[in-house]
Amino acid sequence: MQTAGALPLAGAASAAETTPDYLAELGVAPIINGAGVYTMMTASLMRPECVRAIAAMSTKFVRLDELHDAVGKRIAKLLGAEAAMVPSGAAAALTVGTAGVLTGTNADFIQRIPDLTGMKSEVIVQKSHRFPYDHMVRNCGVKLIEVETRAQMVGAMGPKTAMMLFLNKADHLGQVKMKEFVAIGKEYKIPTFNDAAADAPPVENLFTPIRLGFDLVCTSGGKGIRGPQSAGILAGRADLIKAARMNTSPNSDTIGRCCKVNKEEMVGMMVALESFLKEDHKANWKEWEKRVETMRRAIVKMPGVKATPFVPPIANSVPHLLVQWDVKKVGLTELDLMKQLREGTPSIELVPNDPKPGQGVEIASWMLQPGEAEIVAGRIEEVLGRKA
Ligand SMILES: *Cc1c(COP(=O)(O)O)cnc(C)c1O
Repeated sequence: MQTAGALPLAGAASAAETTPDYLAELGVAPIINGAGVYTMMTASLMRPECVRAIAAMSTKFVRLDELHDAVGKRIAKLLGAEAAMVPSGAAAALTVGTAGVLTGTNADFIQRIPDLTGMKSEVIVQKSHRFPYDHMVRNCGVKLIEVETRAQMVGAMGPKTAMMLFLNKADHLGQVKMKEFVAIGKEYKIPTFNDAAADAPPVENLFTPIRLGFDLVCTSGGKGIRGPQSAGILAGRADLIKAARMNTSPNSDTIGRCCKVNKEEMVGMMVALESFLKEDHKANWKEWEKRVETMRRAIVKMPGVKATPFVPPIANSVPHLLVQWDVKKVGLTELDLMKQLREGTPSIELVPNDPKPGQGVEIASWMLQPGEAEIVAGRIEEVLGRKA
């Protein structure tokens, strides 16, 4: 601990001295996040300007709806959307957005949902686009109708069809691609909803689904944008955003009342988005590549250990390193390595090779803080090197 005299600002020094080390008090270890933007590992760190916005907003009262209107308008303009709102994350956006589609502005429907009496009740989705978060759509009481081909999709349309759901990162897996999907929605006048929660960077992915004409598009606030964890963006058609807003907090008798967002997160989300859009993405990329290279060079020095840089094609599409070794020779599985890194000091979190469990660990570069790439590589050398 430095003395106050050694710091340039007396104010900063006293603030640092009076903030308790909560994690130490609680006996909770901070972690080095080499896993990526996982909610379980608190995902991303908020941008300083976002934290400042939250602090500034915390000292003022406002009429929440008036603030939400203004923030929504500013976000919509930034994204080139007709309208936007701040839900409490992309997951919440799926619930309140679907609710808006189902109820419109009908007060009785809003109160009744997830009982869909009088409302449409089916959502069409490609089988390859099913994902854990579609539970948030099912929260509204709808039935998901799975299809594979274009003909099946069109054949599934009927009087009960409320919406068509699309998972942005699964575009390459489905037979009906984004453009055609939107065109079918328009032809049958069925709203299309695209979940692009984890797909920015690249920054274009914030714009593309909106430009292509999806009626609703949601994004996480606390992943690559580095806004509040408990915030996201729902953008799209003005009438649907209006209806989604009616289905959520602060309105009490609604399905989305549990997805509360206060003024701090609303403004924090807006400020984080502005800052993300202005950021030097090329410089970030270079820095992430540098970290990957630092780790690769250290790790490949061990005999029998491979380290391969890769970039996921979509979702968390940033430089990563895949570390693989001969489990039989080294005598450690990927879970053994992860456990030892977790239990070490500092504690490090990684994830298993995503498409191929049992075949190595992945290191995400983008949530590492300065100096941590060296620490992660060093610990892997210690644990694997002892055996390799
Ligand atoms: C992370 C994620 C979500 C949930 O986002 P939150 O902002 O944490 O609510 C939803 N859908 C997909 C595809 C995601 O990756």
